[in-house]
Amino acid sequence: MTATSLFSCGFAEFQKTLAELGMPAFRGNQVREWIFRKFVFSFDEMTNISLADREKLKAAFPKILPPVEKFLTASDGTCKVVLKLADEECIEAVAIPDEDSMTFCLSTQVGCAVGCVFCRTGEGGFKRNLSAEEIILQVMVLVKRTGMKPTNIVFMGMGEPFFNRKALYEAIDMLTDPQGLALATRRITISTSGVIEGIAELAGRPGEVNLAVSLHVADDACRNNLVPINKKYPLARLKEAIADYCTHTGRRVTLEVVMLKNINDQFNDAMNLINFCEGLIAHVNIVRFNHFPGSDYEPSPANNEKEFRKTLKKAGITVTVRRSRGQEILAACGQLAGKSDDKEKK
Ligand code: SF4
Repeated sequence: MTATSLFSCGFAEFQKTLAELGMPAFRGNQVREWIFRKFVFSFDEMTNISLADREKLKAAFPKILPPVEKFLTASDGTCKVVLKLADEECIEAVAIPDEDSMTFCLSTQVGCAVGCVFCRTGEGGFKRNLSAEEIILQVMVLVKRTGMKPTNIVFMGMGEPFFNRKALYEAIDMLTDPQGLALATRRITISTSGVIEGIAELAGRPGEVNLAVSLHVADDACRNNLVPINKKYPLARLKEAIADYCTHTGRRVTLEVVMLKNINDQFNDAMNLINFCEGLIAHVNIVRFNHFPGSDYEPSPANNEKEFRKTLKKAGITVTVRRSRGQEILAACGQLAGKSDDKEKK
């Protein structure tokens, strides 16, 4: 049989499998309609499909979604799901509801090789890449649990997305497929620690997928320490790649800055950032550091952050501050670790 999971090989393969099972071509559309429009994940509930075909589907695809190891909800409505994969590895994905939006933050790897010092994911090192199917499953489990389709997808969970580009783009193709969730590419953001080849490839791809770069500081010595990949892709080369991306796409890039007390929150750090932004179509997004067990870093005091923002704004740079969501369930930025023992809150 061609496809072994509903989300493993794209819709063409799924259609082929249904034909192999002796089903008419329209069955594929019916199943997709139930899953992607009505969010029904049990063949038994797909009532416009004949009983005989429902039995065949159940035998061919015994589990539509993987088991949920843990589902946590924070008091601000943020939800975190921990999924156990076939090889027992765990990954996390987060749903962040807002007044008129629902953002899903997805993982692309088990662990991460980049090892940013303020990130819990990097602590455990890299284990493996996720398949496109494992990326899509995060979305579908969150859809099922929240009962909502995402308005935005951000690849800011566990892992460096540009180190898993094949699966990343296969997953994006499925998410934007009109027969799938039909998301607009401009609703999707890839966040990178600064992988230059990935930025160049994204610039050449069709669609309007957004780019965010986890910059944090615009000084090589300090960035080498905070984001060790900077030794391979130093700031001058990174800036060149971002500038090429802006020229090529005409799109604005988000530069993420996690504010750490006395590390990157001083006046000279703001000035370095202003110099880095010169000539780029970019805006700066300040992210408050989210503490996690075992971390030595502290969030920047409110006053330092305020002064930092003021300096950037005076130089004409657009600055936003990302509200921290889901801290109490370790679902906020930099807190994901794929651990099933995070405390449960309902
Ligand atoms: S911040 Fe991103 S790139 Fe850095 S260690 Fe964490 S997951 Fe990896």
